[in-house]
Amino acid sequence: MTKYVFVTGGVTSSLGKGIFASSLAKLLQARGLRVSIQKFDPYINVDPGTLNPYEHGECFVTEDGAETDLDLGHYERFLDVNTTQANNVTTGRVYLTVIEKERKGDYLGKTVQIVPHITDEIKRRMLILGQGNDFDIVITELGGTVGDIESLPYVEAVRQLRWELGAGNCVVVHLTLIPYLSAAKELKTKPTQHSVKELAKNGVSPDVLVCRTEKNLTDDIRHKLALFCNVDFNAVIEAQDATSIYDVPMHLLKEKIDSIILDKLRLNVRKRPDLTAWQEFLNKLQNPVAQVNIALVGKYVELQDAYKSIHEALIHGATAQQIKVNIVSIHSESITEKNVAEWMKNIDGILVAPGFGSRGISGKIEAIKYARTQNIPFLGICLGMQCAAIEFARNVLQLPTANSTEMDAHTKDPIVDLLESQEKITHKGGTMRLGAFACTVAKKTKTYKAYRQENISERHRHRFEFNNAYKEQFYTAGFVAAGINPDNNLVEILELTTHPWFIGVQFHPEYKSRVTRPHPLFVDFLQHALKQRVSKENL
Ligand code: GLN
Repeated sequence: MTKYVFVTGGVTSSLGKGIFASSLAKLLQARGLRVSIQKFDPYINVDPGTLNPYEHGECFVTEDGAETDLDLGHYERFLDVNTTQANNVTTGRVYLTVIEKERKGDYLGKTVQIVPHITDEIKRRMLILGQGNDFDIVITELGGTVGDIESLPYVEAVRQLRWELGAGNCVVVHLTLIPYLSAAKELKTKPTQHSVKELAKNGVSPDVLVCRTEKNLTDDIRHKLALFCNVDFNAVIEAQDATSIYDVPMHLLKEKIDSIILDKLRLNVRKRPDLTAWQEFLNKLQNPVAQVNIALVGKYVELQDAYKSIHEALIHGATAQQIKVNIVSIHSESITEKNVAEWMKNIDGILVAPGFGSRGISGKIEAIKYARTQNIPFLGICLGMQCAAIEFARNVLQLPTANSTEMDAHTKDPIVDLLESQEKITHKGGTMRLGAFACTVAKKTKTYKAYRQENISERHRHRFEFNNAYKEQFYTAGFVAAGINPDNNLVEILELTTHPWFIGVQFHPEYKSRVTRPHPLFVDFLQHALKQRVSKENL
């Protein structure tokens, strides 16, 4: 029977529930258990696909084309497993299901209410992953902070499930903050006590407290927390700020959280956690032998979470080669033809990020032109590839008004355009080309050298496509289609033959990079960036 761990958050948001859940899952997985993680988000959007990255950070896309919370990216990267639509549920999705059922008449004339109808739907979804006997443990992260109005139905669902599943089959972990008051030189437990009281008021008492803190938790503090929050002394877990998110599983291992959770779930697992590959990754991460500077050009760079998967994929790709990647975020709106050289002075590789809409496009195009003409390794992702195509058309093919119809609906040269099937779509939610699609990589290309595979599959999230009417012209001038979708002939990868490493991809390779399995394109991009650095240093 599948057992359940629920992770709630208290005191403040941004405590790193996603990293905690991923780290705990990693430890349990390392003990040979089959673990999955899911996230319930209390907002009313049906999915985060329609949210501005400033609101909610990156939107992570799964193999099955679900647009999900960025925490699912952490789950996949830590566990090296794929998640699906079922791993991310929002209040909007829950209500949509209930309202659709009501319209169909499924409630047989009953008044439809938050309790029991919404809470039943939440419970049903909380149990779905555990029903196929695919997992020993399902960890459910509840978004939001205890005490928020919108969290209430979720807490109530957990209360009911706990009663229904019975002791030993489910554990509630409360992640909380123990602030340090420098004036008093003291760690303070009161906010946590209040947060636990708030949970208890709703009928849920946590079994384990995980305490985010800047300082060591002394035994006195642990004792006080245990006593006033009604948890076992050894179930007060310290989660001190870590230098890297990848250190967190090791910190938690020291605190024996895996054993504590397994005890409470009455699971007798003898196997000690095998974290050899993870430790190897950490050793390389902590002892780099060289470094590279990568410019990340995008319009949401103020918010690091907006490009979370790209950041992590760069770290995985660099660490695999034991190099350190310094990510220099550059706001595309601040790049002009005049200052681009200044921005790129110390840069060894340029990555132009995905995005939507026309803001910041000209800066992206300047950065791309610089990479192309100065032979700097370049990786363009999604909009980054589309901009590379536009730049090439304007400056090499001499089509000065070339554009994407996303930016100029009436351009004479629509290098990037909507497919007919997209033209009729009026709804924004969930209607892009989403999820995994096959791609055939052309042999004798740099892309092939990176992948060492002809048949690949990558995840997409976009509406616009490279316009095949220009393929021949591009090809003749040296910008070739290195990857084609075998089913519909769409260009998925463009590569410049006359450049050391200049590749644009219509898909998002960053979604498939894993801690212990870095993405080949990122690895190759960074390898060429390092070459660039070494040759610069030798000048
Ligand atoms: N806006 C572009 C499109 O919809 C690119 C999207 C992206 O970069 N994810 O096609």
